[in-house]
Amino acid sequence: NQEKRKATSALRFFAFNCCTVNKLTTIRAMSKPTIPVIDVRQRPTVMTPELRAIIAGLDLEGPVLDQLSRPLRDLRISVTDRCNFRCSYCMPKSVFTRDYTYLPQSDLLSFEEITTIAEAATRLGVKKIRITGGEPLLRKNLEILIAQLSALRTTDGKPLDLTLTTNASLLKRKAQLLKDAGLSRLTVSLDALDDGIFRKMNDMDFPVVDVLEGIDTALAVGFKDIKVNMVVKRGTNVDQIVPMARHFRGTGVALRFIEYMDVGASNGWRMDEVLPSADVLAMLQAQWPMVSLPAKSKGETAKRYGYLDASGADDASLGEVGFISSVTEAFCHECNRARLSTDGRLFACLFATQGTDIKHLLRGEEPVNADFVARYLAHTWMQRSDQYSALRQAGVIPAGNASARIEMSYIGG
Ligand code: SAM
Ligand code: SF4
Ligand code: SF4
Repeated sequence: NQEKRKATSALRFFAFNCCTVNKLTTIRAMSKPTIPVIDVRQRPTVMTPELRAIIAGLDLEGPVLDQLSRPLRDLRISVTDRCNFRCSYCMPKSVFTRDYTYLPQSDLLSFEEITTIAEAATRLGVKKIRITGGEPLLRKNLEILIAQLSALRTTDGKPLDLTLTTNASLLKRKAQLLKDAGLSRLTVSLDALDDGIFRKMNDMDFPVVDVLEGIDTALAVGFKDIKVNMVVKRGTNVDQIVPMARHFRGTGVALRFIEYMDVGASNGWRMDEVLPSADVLAMLQAQWPMVSLPAKSKGETAKRYGYLDASGADDASLGEVGFISSVTEAFCHECNRARLSTDGRLFACLFATQGTDIKHLLRGEEPVNADFVARYLAHTWMQRSDQYSALRQAGVIPAGNASARIEMSYIGG
């Protein structure tokens, strides 16, 4: 009990320091912003001797669980805060202007630093790593990082489920390199088949045919289990739902419909632009009879549905669709994901305003070994009580953007 009391008082001390430092957050002065963005990206770790002692003494024998008894199984790593698209729901042009200041190269985690953190996370039970961004394929020599990560093993000695989310603009060029480096799976973001709608949604006049060719190339080099993410926005791409499903039905590519979320501070989210997944499902069922499929694993974000054959059974050859419904059907109770930002902070929730700075720990004057990094991650995870979407859905906290919230392009989806 005395040990527990000591740990609690140290945690309070740590939380106090974090808040104090966070008050120094600077409001970015930008040339033509329509919505101000608060730059919460720089927050140095306050690593006191007391905290160091607590972390070093942490008992990692049993399972590492957060405050809501959720394990850590999935790590999402953002490798760049830059993107060549300007999707209005993520990096709207009005905020991410030509003059926007991105992180300097020196602030980005190196591949070695990322691998050290990923290795530490696998010690805590992480089985899946997703590379994301910004647009991850913009990061130079990404295949070197993929090769490093694919050499890691889970606690039971198995290869990681190593995957990547991309807008596919560079996929045609990079698919073979990624496959050779050991990437296991791919998710492509695509919001419309109609070229005009797609160009408008990426807001960079990027043609849909290039994305489709990227997917074809990925299939040709041997990627299986490719997923396509479609963010559905009322008034923008609802008429693309059925054509997208028809296009990917029976191709082995699983289409997933994502409810438009109030992430970040800048996308101007409104509830009336969210089309609930139940409505999307109803639109699909009006075309094809469908059946709910069981979850493949605990903590799975998507609810899956299959197409029925003439006898009324699931026809696996027609593939499946998924629904990620974080607005209307929050899945926080099973959320086992942490996110590592481009500049090396660990975020316990997509909607968090603060992250724990791991980079400063790695680059600090006192050297730390992989064991200490694992303990530091565990210490962070054990304090986690985030459940933003569940609280929003229950009406406990208001829906909408929050000024100090981290942008999705810094921590990825
Ligand atoms: N640039 C890559 C891409 O688009 O695939 C990776 C990063 S992107 C932030 C990851 C995923 O987040 C994408 O599938 C994107 O559609 C999704 N996303 C971004 N903003 C969103 C929002 N406001 N609501 C729902 N999904 C969003
Ligand atoms: Fe770029 Fe992906 Fe965000 Fe679109 S969703 S702006 S492609 S990071
Ligand atoms: Fe996980 Fe946060 Fe999303 Fe809930 S809101 S599912 S805790 S990332």
